[in-house]
Amino acid sequence: MSALWPRVRGFLWGGAKSGFALVSRPAMSKEHLIYLDNNATTQIDPAVVSEMMPFLTEFYGNPSSAYSFGARVGKSVLKARQRVASLLGCEPEEILFTSCGTESNNAAIASALAMDPDRQHVITTRVEHSAITKHCETLAKRGTEITWLGVDANGHIDLAELERAIRPDTAIVSAMWANNETGVLNPIPEIAAICHRKKTLFHTDAVQAVGKIPIKLSESPINFLSVSGHKLHCPKGVGVLYVSRRTKFHPFLIGGSQENNRRAGTENVASIVALGKACELAGDFMEHENSEVRALRDQFEAGVLEIISGATVNGDQSNRLPNTTSIAFDGIDSEAVLLVLDKYRICCSAGSACTTGSIHPSHVLKAMGFSTDRARSSLRFSFSRFNSKLDVEHALAVLPQVIAKLRKMAS
Ligand code: PLP
Repeated sequence: MSALWPRVRGFLWGGAKSGFALVSRPAMSKEHLIYLDNNATTQIDPAVVSEMMPFLTEFYGNPSSAYSFGARVGKSVLKARQRVASLLGCEPEEILFTSCGTESNNAAIASALAMDPDRQHVITTRVEHSAITKHCETLAKRGTEITWLGVDANGHIDLAELERAIRPDTAIVSAMWANNETGVLNPIPEIAAICHRKKTLFHTDAVQAVGKIPIKLSESPINFLSVSGHKLHCPKGVGVLYVSRRTKFHPFLIGGSQENNRRAGTENVASIVALGKACELAGDFMEHENSEVRALRDQFEAGVLEIISGATVNGDQSNRLPNTTSIAFDGIDSEAVLLVLDKYRICCSAGSACTTGSIHPSHVLKAMGFSTDRARSSLRFSFSRFNSKLDVEHALAVLPQVIAKLRKMAS
């Protein structure tokens, strides 16, 4: 733990008495939250709440029931399936509702391994979310062979290395569409084409990509794709696994015949309806995401690089999500910055995670070849359509002061 921590804590609790006076924040309501952590989760769109509410009150029927009260609910689940399919450019029958992105990721890999006992080799990358990495580590302990593909300093895998790694016993390749920490995009159509040519299944964790960049799955050789509702202005606890109609699926949850016998358990109707609406809105806002939201991110990033010395963007800047920037600040501890920014109601996330008192630098930034210090001095800022220019201006007014003061404390 950084030697700076006791002083940062002292500052937070002791204010000016600690010798670290509060930085000034321009005039703005003290309650206003500047939420720049939209890759962690998103604000639920009020239109999504309105759409789901009747299914928490009036329409509580079971969609599998034969009477019309149940059928009415069943129709709404079908409408949601159509809306999700429309955003992904696929058929409604290819949409499988799940409880979250993690379940979708686990289910895709489990299905591929259940397909053929002679194919028990999995290929993935070193920069995946823990919903893939931890699952693969657990599978490795049970005897599945895992090949981990590294990435370069831009965050990209080597496609020739991927091609060489695919073997006759490879069950599945899993590579994320967009990285949650850096926003770096993988060339998914090319990866899917390689897997198709080498006759192995391909799954992509598109949890961060869906709703931010256009996706069209019809005609694509992608076999499985994961979605999470709470990353696109929908409540937590609902997700999707796209299973292409060319792909056999072995259920992860066994029981009732819901989801066309592919996922047992009575449907989470209100959340499914919410996800349908959220996907419809994501389609409507796609252009906005790639113009206005991108402009907010770019304005913020350019401002940071101009005002704060020793700031460097992590990862490929030309091939990344429109809403994300990951920035390393020389000589600071990102966890300390988070604590101070919290005083100003500014939310972002650190390139490290604190578990039981010890700080782990981001596995993504480490895999990109960055030092532990650079990983520990990195912050991720992620924007959404609910952010404004005012948010950017306020963050740009506060952040440089916080970084300057923390650097002074550390020197
Ligand atoms: N995959 C990625 C890339 C993510 O960013 C996340 C969540 O942060 C997940 C998977 C897990 O999704 P969920 O929280 O819905 O389980």
